[in-house]
Amino acid sequence: MHPKELRINQRLEERARAWESKEAGLLTGAQLWHAVRWCSSKSCRAAGLSDRVLTFVEQSYIEHKEDYNGTARLKDICRGCGVEYRSENLLICVQCSRERCGACASRGEINEYGDAICPCGGIMV
Ligand SMILES: [Zn+2]
Ligand SMILES: [Zn+2]
Repeated sequence: MHPKELRINQRLEERARAWESKEAGLLTGAQLWHAVRWCSSKSCRAAGLSDRVLTFVEQSYIEHKEDYNGTARLKDICRGCGVEYRSENLLICVQCSRERCGACASRGEINEYGDAICPCGGIMV
């Protein structure tokens, strides 16, 4: 699947449009965490995102930076080895949101941009 066709890109585009038309607010919590990680991944940069989405994610990060940093420090369990890590040390799948540590993720498939692929087929960021 080409990254352009990913559900996360469609979701972000829809959310950014809703924000522009003031129907929805900025991203917070896990959604913000997810979006920032995705936008800074090589796969995302290769796919390209609209200026609308980039502005939306950037603005969400600027206004909710503490929320983002708080999420980074939360602890979660790797789905591969069951060891507990801080979220900032886990990779998260953009499709199913399952988290894996670097060691477990690197044992799976790696795509052409160097990002690990989740067993569900989603990109891990
Ligand atoms: Zn692991
Ligand atoms: Zn997945």
